Amino acid sequence: MLEVTNLYKSFRNVRAVNGLSLHVQAGEIVGLLGPNGAGKTTTLRCICGILRPDAGQIIVGGYDLAKQEQQAKRLMAFIPETPNPYELLTVREHIQFVAMCYGTIDTFRERIEELLQRFDLKEKEHELVATLSKGMRQKLAVACAFVHNAKVFLCDEPLIGIDPKGQHELKSELQRLRDEGCAILVSTHQLDTAERLCDRVIIMQAGRKLAEGTLAELQTQAQMADSTLEQVFLRLTEEAKDAGAVVSDVATSGQ
Ligand code: ATP
Repeated sequence: MLEVTNLYKSFRNVRAVNGLSLHVQAGEIVGLLGPNGAGKTTTLRCICGILRPDAGQIIVGGYDLAKQEQQAKRLMAFIPETPNPYELLTVREHIQFVAMCYGTIDTFRERIEELLQRFDLKEKEHELVATLSKGMRQKLAVACAFVHNAKVFLCDEPLIGIDPKGQHELKSELQRLRDEGCAILVSTHQLDTAERLCDRVIIMQAGRKLAEGTLAELQTQAQMADSTLEQVFLRLTEEAKDAGAVVSDVATSGQ
């Protein structure tokens, strides 16, 4: 459903993403993990089309993002780490606007009521977005992502700032979408959540893929049977750091 091949993206002299390849199948939740600055957000922003990669190919549901941008984008929903919504729309208008942009206004009415209830936005539906708290803005971004029948979900630290009930609703919705055949890529630092939620994880470091697999596969790679994802993550990233595999400066890396 989502296929990324040899992705490169640099900012001045920093190679944020350095030859990354990954795939997410339909019916799979994949965790995108990595230390601060590993390149997770840049990867997600390239996939959803906010950033133009320097090189590499992104295929979404069979559409090449570089050549069939609209078809590819129509299949995707992005929950950003820091939402930047339209402040002067009401909550309801904002969700409606997103549904209109994606051509899903027909199903909007039935879907919005459920989303407003689930994410505790009902009381705020006629308030301006500008008046929302940080967590409510995050919930609005979540509701916008879920209103337009996407097949590929890209979530950048989606749980940050959201209250426990909202986190529970978001995780169950992602699991439901996975079970319906959607492909979901979630970046997070919450490794206990990743362990429970994700079918597989990808660990990034310095723009590269350091490791990939199920918890059992990563335990084998780290030679740490019965360890938690957090323990395995710490071992693998520390080992790579000690081995000097964290240089991401353009001047010192491959391409
Ligand atoms: P975090 O876990 O802290 O959110 P991340 O894994 O999401 O980190 P990115 O935000 O993708 O990492 O950043 C990767 C690298 O690219 C970092 O060195 C960062 O400083 C750099 N970078 C990201 N965006 C920009 C930008 N707009 N301009 C310059 N450098 C950037």
